[in-house]
Amino acid sequence: IPATDRRWSWTEIDLNAVRHNAQAVKQRVGAGVRLMAVVKADAYGHGAVRCAKTALNSGADYLGVATVDEAVELREALVNAPVLVLSEPPVSSIPLLLAYKVMPSVYTPEFAIRYGEMADAYGMRAPYHLALNTGMNRIGVRHDEVVEFLSQVSFHRALDLVGTFTHFATADSVETLDFQIQTKRFIEAIAAMRAAGVDPGIVHAANTAAAIRYPDVHFDMVRLGVGLYGLHPSQATRTMIDLKPVMSVHARITDVRTVPMSEGVSYGMNYRSPGSVKVCTVPVGYADGLRRGLSGRTDVIMQGQRCRQVGNICMDQCMFEVDLRVYGNRRRLDPQIGDEVLLVGRGGDSVITLDDMANTLGTINYEVACGFGLRMTKVYV
Ligand code: PLP
Repeated sequence: IPATDRRWSWTEIDLNAVRHNAQAVKQRVGAGVRLMAVVKADAYGHGAVRCAKTALNSGADYLGVATVDEAVELREALVNAPVLVLSEPPVSSIPLLLAYKVMPSVYTPEFAIRYGEMADAYGMRAPYHLALNTGMNRIGVRHDEVVEFLSQVSFHRALDLVGTFTHFATADSVETLDFQIQTKRFIEAIAAMRAAGVDPGIVHAANTAAAIRYPDVHFDMVRLGVGLYGLHPSQATRTMIDLKPVMSVHARITDVRTVPMSEGVSYGMNYRSPGSVKVCTVPVGYADGLRRGLSGRTDVIMQGQRCRQVGNICMDQCMFEVDLRVYGNRRRLDPQIGDEVLLVGRGGDSVITLDDMANTLGTINYEVACGFGLRMTKVYV
């Protein structure tokens, strides 16, 4: 029995859109710049293995993940491309890195030396990317301490510096001063490495926003995360590139009823029926990523018409009202159990986006996308 027949809600993942987005960015940065598809957090909720394979078939050369487990998942699905863990994992995970040929980001001498020693013991190389902190102050060797760091670890013969990178804190902002400071520090650090006789390997810094906005920081590779999923990191990139949204959220109606006027709906009964409405239930709740903060503040699209979500969003279900009055150019809807509706996506002239939800919630589209990836079945099209 297919998953969508076991529970009537799913996210639809448009792999053609993933392909389009990867190709659009590849075209923008040019053939000489490598493309890393960032597929951490299950590809921001879109499904890591399928998105990674699609990206690799559409111009991506490299994969980025957040955890060793995410890297292992890709390897077990027979993904052979280089995989970089975008932070330094625990020393205790080193045997897995070596066994699965997964590269860590490195910034402590302790990790580097253990990694080199263990690789040596197995007669292997220890490839890694060096993470530089140029101002975000999250991870990395301080930009002005890079030569000292390398001198502490360079004695280790198995260590193999494959790349050097930093991460921008404000590439998506209107204000560019901090971005410029980070860029300057990064360029200086790379120059200092070269002056010390160290080849930094693949030099990379740009996330989606920087890849689209700032050709000067493409270096040897850009790291495409949110843009791969058709989402813009901020307003700044919207007019610069055409990205296609990848995720839509679907459900089928599991219950329909007429609620007498002024009766309440859902926990707390904050919503009271105005009469002349039918109230429908769909199996999507906050445990599926439909955040409770959206209660009464989002819509559901049924047969191309917007219907108001009403009452508090529950853990696994939520309700929406179908207005039975006919006005404007509305058709009279006749909701039935099993009818399909959209919580995110385009139906007729109506569109609800992850950005709409993020704006309502005062958060970013990244977080909303990740939420919808948690429990719902993904249907790839
Ligand atoms: N590089 C690093 C180190 C990251 O942590 C991330 C994600 O936050 C990315 C690249 C991708 O960023 P974006 O999704 O904004 O393209």
